[in-house]
Amino acid sequence: MDAAEFRKRGKEMVDYIADYLEKIDKRQVFPDVEPGYLRPLIPDCAPQDPENFEDVFKDIEKIIMPGVTHWHSPYFFAYFPAASSFPALLADMLCGGIGCVGFSWAASPACTELETVVLDWLGKMINLPEEFLAGKDGRGGGVIQGSASEATLMSLLAARTKTIRRVQSEKPELTEAEIMGRLVAYASDQAHSSVERAALIGGVKIKNVPSDEKFTVCGSTLKKVLEEDKAAGLIPFFFCATLGTTPCCSFDKLLELGPICNKENIWMHIDAAYAGSAFICPEFRHLLNGVEFADSFNFNPHKWLLVNFDCSAMWVKKRSDLTGAFKLEPLYLQHHHQESGLVTDYRHWQIPLGRRFRSLKLWFVLRMYGVTGLQEHIRKHVELSHQFEHLVLQDERFEICAEVILGLVCFRLKGSNELNKALFKSINEAKKIHLVPCYLREKFVLRFAICSRTVESTHIKFAWQHMSQLATDLLKTWEPNQQQQ
Ligand SMILES: *Cc1c(COP(=O)(O)O)cnc(C)c1O
Repeated sequence: MDAAEFRKRGKEMVDYIADYLEKIDKRQVFPDVEPGYLRPLIPDCAPQDPENFEDVFKDIEKIIMPGVTHWHSPYFFAYFPAASSFPALLADMLCGGIGCVGFSWAASPACTELETVVLDWLGKMINLPEEFLAGKDGRGGGVIQGSASEATLMSLLAARTKTIRRVQSEKPELTEAEIMGRLVAYASDQAHSSVERAALIGGVKIKNVPSDEKFTVCGSTLKKVLEEDKAAGLIPFFFCATLGTTPCCSFDKLLELGPICNKENIWMHIDAAYAGSAFICPEFRHLLNGVEFADSFNFNPHKWLLVNFDCSAMWVKKRSDLTGAFKLEPLYLQHHHQESGLVTDYRHWQIPLGRRFRSLKLWFVLRMYGVTGLQEHIRKHVELSHQFEHLVLQDERFEICAEVILGLVCFRLKGSNELNKALFKSINEAKKIHLVPCYLREKFVLRFAICSRTVESTHIKFAWQHMSQLATDLLKTWEPNQQQQ
């Protein structure tokens, strides 16, 4: 393919994507395929000779689309949203076009500097304390990670190194291995599985801190766990607070937890993967109060801020905690400058060496929506979730299982887990909408997350009517069964 053909095909592809997104509501949100569907549809080996674009293009509808779950359908209510917008799609094209690998400032100055500046923009939008910003010569700053999981892992590893160095200076008789064996990380029993995974990868123990009846971790619970562990000779070093837990969007009490972590020399990381985007709205910003106690903070514009995957924004108060933890400087990567402010070698802030020019899509979205456009998007989703909540509350057969704060509603039929599993099964078998369940304590619960950029009130009403009809059908056959027992 030469540049002339690329021009032509590029325009066709843009049309195809625009058609796909414009008419996505006509497609069944969840595919009909079975595992292994794809292999028989394509050859066993790559073609020996080149094929033409038309043949490749035809296979999109034939082979790919039948197996796609349409995350941007207005009937998609599963997981949390995956952000998408036209400005971000265009920026991703440009990112591919420039195709740089910006591991250091010199590897592409614009790639590094734009990232630092737009993360300062974004930090100011959510009113992060000054210490987290890079400014002209700040000690803090932001970085785009591929995912919240990577941000948690990076902060846990940095905390591990920092703690080992501190304990070694206080107790030189302890070896690194002995210290490692005593380190303990903590997170809520509602925390995302990526936190436990970070501890497994980091080779340290992790303990659940029990959440209360609102699925929230409070200071007194953490304190109690810490006292027990310290008395047993363990070394608490890392606490991951969650703002907007994945099962039910609950919020840990930062204002109680932060001072405890600070006093105990425990690194506090905040995982606000989903909820963080809402903090651009003044009415939700209070949920972030206490961030001033944290060492690192992370949220995913690729979840709820209209920036396509992958774009996970992470800030640290002291960049040297990250860069000092794992710095290697082979000659082929060296050049001469002092690291501060805009001059950053982002390879020291992340696991991989290579990195894409991801700040472009964040920059495009922030400029083309503006803060007000993005606030509108968040507010619309929160309104729709409350609309759904009201529909559920009007039906006596159902109950709401956790406070609705942002765009997620946890609900269930009053009754057994078996009943709710049967309802869930009928919803996902009908494939008119798509959602996923979760457990809250021992209860099997349905999670209804407002996801699509284009979802409207009519889709919410449709989803509710559909589910309530399925519930009616189910209960007709269910009650006699129950009575027989
Ligand atoms: C979605 C989610 C994650 C995982 O996000 P990735 O960017 O896919 O790693 C982590 N924590 C919470 C609370 C989440 O909701």
